[in-house]
Amino acid sequence: MNRDSMTDRLRDRTTEAWDIIVIGGGATGMGIAVDAASRGFEVLLLEQADFGKGTSSRSTKLVHGGVRYLQQGNISLVMEALRERGRLLQNAPHLVSDLAFVVPNYEWWEAPFYGVGMKVYDVMAGRYRFGRSKNLSVEETIARLPNIEREGLRGGVLYHDGQFDDARLLVNLAQTAFEQGATVINYAKVNDLMKDSAGFLTGVRVVDQENGEEFQAGARVVINATGPFCDEIRRLDSPTAAAVIQPSQGVHITLDRSFLAGDTAIMVPRTTDGRVMFALPWHDHVIVGTTDTPLDRVSLEPRPTAEEVDFILETTVQYLVRDPTREDVLSAFAGIRPLVRAGQADNTATLSREHSIEISASGLLTIAGGKWTTYRNMAEDCVDHAITVGDLEDRPCVTKSLRIHGHLRDAERFGELAWYGSDATAVRTLIESEDRFGERLHPALPYRAGEVVWSTRSEMTRTVDDYLSRRSRATFLNARAAMEMAPTVAQLLAEALGRDDSWVQSQVREYRQIASGYLP
Ligand SMILES: Cc1cc2nc3c(=O)[nH]c(=O)nc-3n(C[C@H](O)[C@H](O)[C@H](O)COP(=O)(O)OP(=O)(O)OC[C@H]3O[C@@H](n4cnc5c(N)ncnc54)[C@H](O)[C@@H]3O)c2cc1C
Repeated sequence: MNRDSMTDRLRDRTTEAWDIIVIGGGATGMGIAVDAASRGFEVLLLEQADFGKGTSSRSTKLVHGGVRYLQQGNISLVMEALRERGRLLQNAPHLVSDLAFVVPNYEWWEAPFYGVGMKVYDVMAGRYRFGRSKNLSVEETIARLPNIEREGLRGGVLYHDGQFDDARLLVNLAQTAFEQGATVINYAKVNDLMKDSAGFLTGVRVVDQENGEEFQAGARVVINATGPFCDEIRRLDSPTAAAVIQPSQGVHITLDRSFLAGDTAIMVPRTTDGRVMFALPWHDHVIVGTTDTPLDRVSLEPRPTAEEVDFILETTVQYLVRDPTREDVLSAFAGIRPLVRAGQADNTATLSREHSIEISASGLLTIAGGKWTTYRNMAEDCVDHAITVGDLEDRPCVTKSLRIHGHLRDAERFGELAWYGSDATAVRTLIESEDRFGERLHPALPYRAGEVVWSTRSEMTRTVDDYLSRRSRATFLNARAAMEMAPTVAQLLAEALGRDDSWVQSQVREYRQIASGYLP
């Protein structure tokens, strides 16, 4: 995957229309690109920043049916998500794993209440079930969660769900889309829509964010998959369009692994303000979240508020023996849920997580809402609609069993490189090819210099932020360490991409500005 050859494809295609243009390179847009390309359509995907720069790198990292939606009685959403969870495990086994969760019980009614709920969850998953749920004694709960607060503990309920790495899955989906024939370009912003004299959409205008070059691209169907930003594109289509997105921010904090020993996660089904909160082992750290704060504007770098970080810390203190403080927070990150407005709802936690598809009078197809877990199903639904809107040949969806790039069943044998899946051997060969490529970028994190080089050759890394935030997860795991890595990463990128010293300086400056927003 190489950005220059992708932009050449766009530049060279001056007269012929693409079958489908997808605006937005998050889970939703990339899922659509994979689906449409694998049905044999000619697909162009345009992302204004980096793939996954929006919400899709900022999730709780769960591939889940959503125990919370079960509580809300949204059976169809839970069933759909459980099915998709099972499919994702089949199609990307190098990135999705079974994670055990315990709901710790401090009240007498919690064991029967959550115990029965989790049995229902098991039954609904059917053949896609991960592990079996069961009620745990106090001793069994402590064995699984050695750091759990013991005062008043009555036991726990064990259940299973899936865990993944969101940004890495997105890179693998971009690679899959490319292998299926799609053209996917990062740093390509759609700034206008083109229409014919009858007012029907004929394509988009694009600006290359790296050099300002402008392009026009024709399409039989244009899909707006810009998540929290989708009203901006809808207003390019119709300036008076009413907003469909009710943006809400969710924050996580990252702590040292010692706060939650063992391999089991904690699920708190009801915090003091009625939310669900998780504490999860992830990449040898612990992430805790999330919050749900309505926003009035969206941005690519939303910042956690002091209140959100404090709320997460206050909740964590109730469940762990060692109390984390602000000084213990290694990173705090925020993501914006692209929730679809539901009437006059004033509490976004109750807004639907199901996706919605809208077709405007000009033929713009907008898909919004949904979850990472259900991205494949959302894409299938969207491409089915695109076939009708664009009068394309009716070809069946093949993604239910399509292997995602990197697919490998026993990737654990590659240790720290396991998440590269079938690419791990090639990454290791590159790391071993020069002594300096084997050097660790920081003692606190597992990444090596050769991985930066690999990411420029195979994963379309363009900036220090791309590498530190989404090709590796340094920014999310330990923002201070990531800032210290920035000069070395910038130097390696400059060598690989042919950039000069002033580029290196400005990249380090820009990255430090971004990463400072992850320090509470
Ligand atoms: C805090 C939080 C936790 C979550 N946890 C989970 C979880 O554990 N499991 C789960 O299944 N789901 C989870 N979700 C939901 C999931 O992350 C989102 O539903 C999903 O990532 C949305 O993807 P998207 O592609 O629609 O949006 P985004 O990822 O935001 O992608 C939209 C993209 O469009 C691009 N764009 C915007 N304007 C333009 C333009 N003019 N031209 C080109 N590109 C443009 C943006 O740059 C952006 O990259 C969570 C969400 C949040 C906020």
